Amino acid sequence: MTEALTPSRAAAPCRSAADLPAPPALPIYLDYAATTPVDPRVAQKMLVYMTEKFGNPASTSHAFGQDAAFAVERARTQVAALIGARAGDIVWTSGATESNNLAIKGAAHANRAKGRHLVTVATEHKAVLDTMRRLEGEGYEVTYLQPQANGLVDPAAFEAALRPDTILASVMLVNNEIGVIQPVAALGRICRARGILLHADAAQAAGKMPVDVEQLQVDLLSMSAHKLYGPKGIGALYVRNDPQVRLEAQMDGGGHEKGLRSGTLPSHQIVGMGEACELARLELAGETTRIAALQERLRSGLAALPGVRFNGDMAQRIPHNVNVSFTGAGAGALADKLPGIAVSAGSACNSASAAPSYVLRAIGLSDAQARNAMRISLGRYTGAADVDYLLRQLRLALR
Ligand SMILES: *Cc1c(COP(=O)(O)O)cnc(C)c1O
Repeated sequence: MTEALTPSRAAAPCRSAADLPAPPALPIYLDYAATTPVDPRVAQKMLVYMTEKFGNPASTSHAFGQDAAFAVERARTQVAALIGARAGDIVWTSGATESNNLAIKGAAHANRAKGRHLVTVATEHKAVLDTMRRLEGEGYEVTYLQPQANGLVDPAAFEAALRPDTILASVMLVNNEIGVIQPVAALGRICRARGILLHADAAQAAGKMPVDVEQLQVDLLSMSAHKLYGPKGIGALYVRNDPQVRLEAQMDGGGHEKGLRSGTLPSHQIVGMGEACELARLELAGETTRIAALQERLRSGLAALPGVRFNGDMAQRIPHNVNVSFTGAGAGALADKLPGIAVSAGSACNSASAAPSYVLRAIGLSDAQARNAMRISLGRYTGAADVDYLLRQLRLALR
């Protein structure tokens, strides 16, 4: 834990009432699904690859380049280990947005002779949905499945959407707004039996639950470092090697990453992602248990508030996410009444748009219910005092 992120009693504002527990230091960060701080252990590892071992990993004729190349390959092994893959199946990208683009456009273009139909879900991240829209403009056909009211895809409905000309399906492992875990392994079985490629956006899953590309039977899987305590601007795409998934590169250049993604490898970013994945793998069980207890504390506190509705399946979910609607009080306005607490309110998950969340609308919430929603996401530096403080402020705001 870092000094700055640990609720510090000394720094807390002075309260005279002796029976009040000291509040945690503000502001409180409860928006880990949007991004995470870089773990100081990660930042420390990265620094050396900016200042000393700064060589271009492609310049392997000298020690500077060799040091960087060695670090890049070590990081590839660390990322692969988190998802049960082989190092050779990992392609570096700038983040999950690029990974999704490369996976979906790359596979669609490489397989256009086989068919032009793709399947996805209405509650996917925009990096998937907008990529699909782009392909529709190129003459591909896309089926957007509606999830069930709990946010989960029904595997039977998924299977029914597949056609002889379906080449690829893309279903996220964990939803970024409501935290539900899609039954990707079941979908993987269905796809494999029909020779259809399956891509999973795992940006919200990696580091928060066990992820294994063999168990999931996926062919392509996207990750992002800044969702698991690594730096922003670096991600990875898992590309199955056996059988080899063919992708068309989306960028032309020096032919890096086996021709799949040209561009000088950002070795310091890559080292950071590798270290973040290693820490995530080693600490996954302990961290998940700790966060599950916090989620329970938060949920039971919220359940006691008036007009609360929990969004997304309550069992098939990661413990890091709680999405609630408050009837009668706009969550946007509510968030304004929570000074010093960073949560994601209403449409905030959806950038500059003021429209209610399309994810919440897709699982059956009314416009008003969707507008009154709040996503609270817990992480590595969240403590019980943070949760208690949020609950106390919500109680005051809803009074
Ligand atoms: C954050 C996120 C992305 C985008 O990742 P970047 O690395 O920021 O491009 C894609 N999909 C999901 C599910 C995400 O949560």
